[in-house]
Amino acid sequence: MTLREKQSLFLKNFALLILWAFEQGYEVTAGELLRTDQQHAWNIAHGKSKADRSKHQDKLAGDLNLFIGGKYVTDSTAHAPLGKYWKSLHPQNRWGGDFKGFVDGNHYEML
Ligand SMILES: [Zn+2]
Repeated sequence: MTLREKQSLFLKNFALLILWAFEQGYEVTAGELLRTDQQHAWNIAHGKSKADRSKHQDKLAGDLNLFIGGKYVTDSTAHAPLGKYWKSLHPQNRWGGDFKGFVDGNHYEML
């Protein structure tokens, strides 16, 4: 699979995740999807990321802002049902809530 083909598969599954979230009664808004090399360098310099390279730089990651009952929630555990569903969509899908050290519950990526 080429990178471009993988980017399309990622985005299709990300769309399914968004639709699934709404069907479950959640609300989400869009967070970051594409990150430029410059933005990633800034994030590392400011402690916002510890990864040498982010899947966001390859259009293989997306962040969702989660709302439950109209209230914005940032706790990674609140994203757990979405993370579980995300991982069920493809064996290469990873949820940021499973990351060690830098838990990132609103982050959904494909390897
Ligand atoms: Zn992210």
